[in-house]
Amino acid sequence: MRIAGSHRSLLSLAVISLVAGTALPARGQVSAEWPIHSMDRPKPAVVDPGPSRDPVPPPADAVVLFNGHDLSDWRNADTSGAPARWKVEAGYIEVVNGTGNIATTRTFGDAQLHVEWEAPTPPTGEGQERGNSGVFLMGKYEVQVMDSYDNPTYADGQAAAMFGQYPPLVNASRPPGQWQTYDIIWHGPRWGPKGDLRSPARITVFHNGILVQDNVTLTGPTAYMRRPPYTHDPDQLPLVLQDHHSPVRFRDIWIRPLKD
Ligand code: MG
Repeated sequence: MRIAGSHRSLLSLAVISLVAGTALPARGQVSAEWPIHSMDRPKPAVVDPGPSRDPVPPPADAVVLFNGHDLSDWRNADTSGAPARWKVEAGYIEVVNGTGNIATTRTFGDAQLHVEWEAPTPPTGEGQERGNSGVFLMGKYEVQVMDSYDNPTYADGQAAAMFGQYPPLVNASRPPGQWQTYDIIWHGPRWGPKGDLRSPARITVFHNGILVQDNVTLTGPTAYMRRPPYTHDPDQLPLVLQDHHSPVRFRDIWIRPLKD
């Protein structure tokens, strides 16, 4: 990727670090120390976030993405444009295995996003097969949804990981069957006039109110076993929720688009 000025500033930082005799800061850049999905990568410390709480009304200027009754603001995420086929229950939606990811009918760029989710109980499966779903900003950058309560998996694939890139700072998971929250601040990639990458995407995530991603810089879209490069996309794309074969539930989804 080409990022104007970044090499120069990184070089300056390296020189300063060498002079000062310190290591480069790890936060905000993907660790080269651990291969993707390494099971040896240290697991984040567990922090009890306390009990779940009932949702509160969204902010007055929020775009509500699930009204509690239907999936009219969503469609299937494939190219067919077909209706979303997840189950709608009283106040929440639930993944129906095999029906596919769902995408918002509207598109979004930079945003503040609130999502609540609940992993199935009793839990079934181990590791990546337990309570797996995902929140994909702009359809390409996954904040992992997973039952990570007493369920070891690779650190960069547990709940609130930026999948394949950044483990969460701590494991703030609640037990399955309890509602959990993600509060996300998203800044998408910026492009120059010729489609060159001006600046990469950045994300901050709170899991159950606890900071777990602190303005980290993404290497590109998230993927299984690889870190693909950025591709020139529109400034706004749909938000996507993942069908990973597990009946994960979502509720109280709202978004506040951020202006430049
Ligand atoms: Mg997932």
